[in-house]
Amino acid sequence: MAKREYPLERTRNIGIMAHIDAGKTTTTERILYYTGKIHKIGETHDGASQMDFMEQEKERGITIQSAATTAVWHGFFDQFAKAPYRVNIIDTPGHVDFTIEVERALRVLDGAVAVLDGAAGVEPQTETVWRQATTYDVPRIVFVNKMDKMGADFEMSVDSMHERLQVNAEAIQWPIGAEDDFEAVIDLITQEAYYPVDDLGEKWEPREIPAELKELAEEKRNTLVEAVADVDDDLMEKYLEGEEISVDELKAAIRRATLALQFYPVLAGSAYKDKGVQMMLDAVVDYLPGPLDVKPYIANDPKTGEEVDLIADDSKPFAALAFKIMTDPFVGRLTFMRVYTGTLQSGSYVQNTSSDTRERVGRLLQMHATSRTEIEEVFSGDIAAAIGLKNTTTGDSLTAVDHQLILESMEFPEPVIELAIEPKTKADQDKLSNAIQKLAEEDPSFRATTNPETGDTLIAGMGELQLDIMVDRMRREFNVEATVGAPQVAYREAFTQTVEARGYFKRQSGGKGQYGDVYIEFSPNEEGAGFEFEDAIVGGVVPREYIPSVE
Ligand code: GDP
Repeated sequence: MAKREYPLERTRNIGIMAHIDAGKTTTTERILYYTGKIHKIGETHDGASQMDFMEQEKERGITIQSAATTAVWHGFFDQFAKAPYRVNIIDTPGHVDFTIEVERALRVLDGAVAVLDGAAGVEPQTETVWRQATTYDVPRIVFVNKMDKMGADFEMSVDSMHERLQVNAEAIQWPIGAEDDFEAVIDLITQEAYYPVDDLGEKWEPREIPAELKELAEEKRNTLVEAVADVDDDLMEKYLEGEEISVDELKAAIRRATLALQFYPVLAGSAYKDKGVQMMLDAVVDYLPGPLDVKPYIANDPKTGEEVDLIADDSKPFAALAFKIMTDPFVGRLTFMRVYTGTLQSGSYVQNTSSDTRERVGRLLQMHATSRTEIEEVFSGDIAAAIGLKNTTTGDSLTAVDHQLILESMEFPEPVIELAIEPKTKADQDKLSNAIQKLAEEDPSFRATTNPETGDTLIAGMGELQLDIMVDRMRREFNVEATVGAPQVAYREAFTQTVEARGYFKRQSGGKGQYGDVYIEFSPNEEGAGFEFEDAIVGGVVPREYIPSVE
């Protein structure tokens, strides 16, 4: 038996979520740098990002695939050097077309870092991912990135959380300077300023808060204490008694309130300028939950139908959820799994209770930014990739052979957009069928059907970009030669409103808005009433607040 390296208290499974361009990739890259897994800043620049495995992502500069990367954090001042933390970073895609992948990732992580653009504050997709994280009870900290950018405004960013997300969020740090003058960060809890002492922001030193900011820093600490006391009785008691609140007391109260989803600590930085990322990692450890701090995962016993609470415990029978299938150029098909309880050894058998098959795990891998390690055993609360599971698809439950459970499998909404694809030759038809099968296994929101009238193959999904990428992958990876029709809105019957302008509508088929709502842009028909479905453009997912009452 292998030995568990990191106790559960020192394990964090986190995701980084953001509106596109807020700096998720850059922040992730810096995290990997500071946790020692990549050795040179810029190593992942210019489209060679380590988290983005795939060609399209490189070319388009967006993150689509949900991979998981394992890193080790020793602390800002190496305070955990002897007993470091394992931080598994589950990559959550940033584009609205891939919200299903975001949701899938959100299920398997315990906490998240929401990255905001400090010049923009909360943006539409921030609202979308925020809402999804709330649905899955994911505690969050907020990193206001790009404090060096023109127009950066930390206070505005914090306010935008109050206004647009309507949440109890307050700063635990305050930036010193903004835009070109952004130079350091005040820790409001300890009332110390931290300044970088080298160019790469590797080493920092605590200094006194500049005189002109002292009053502000005290005021902001009070705001923080009040916001946390509002939702934490212990802190409220102290506060009302007018007692001095110590650093440890305040940190403990922030942790309780954050885990209870009653409070969201906000930090300031610039990933690009190498500022604030290490302190943010400390906050991940300090305020985000470990696997034992979250609610038990509810599974079902397929025989009795009874609910079973899964709590991370190595002595229990193994139960895990396959949350991502990827094809790796070197080792082939990888099944990423989150182990909820028990342990799994390489070479052993698992039961796939979703497909009712028994499969052998050939090897187990832990993926790092630039390397992978083969492990003998994966423990509860951890994440690993298995090689050898040929029949497992995303959302499948994997359990001990004699302790079968169904881990609430993901339900996927009906596709909203489709296009016809016509293979050039008979050989291409076969390649196409194979490609569709493989791609649908990776991404269950992607489907194929046959047009009953023309016999054409239709591929369907959640957005134009997703289908674009699928077609691109069919060509590149599966050598399919085909002509592709124009994207069409699927499920036309869903839109029956009579309206005259562009707007947001609830998607009525499949999921009833559960996965967000679809923005459609349309032209009125000639009578000026109703609209042509052919002109509709599915624009992605929008917050419910924007949906007018026309339904
Ligand atoms: P993502 O779409 O959220 O993954 O965002 P990226 O990390 O790809 O960043 C989008 C753009 O913003 C890139 O051009 C980055 O170089 C830039 N960027 C990221 N972080 C910062 C930052 O802290 N400051 C500034 N000025 N630009 C940044």
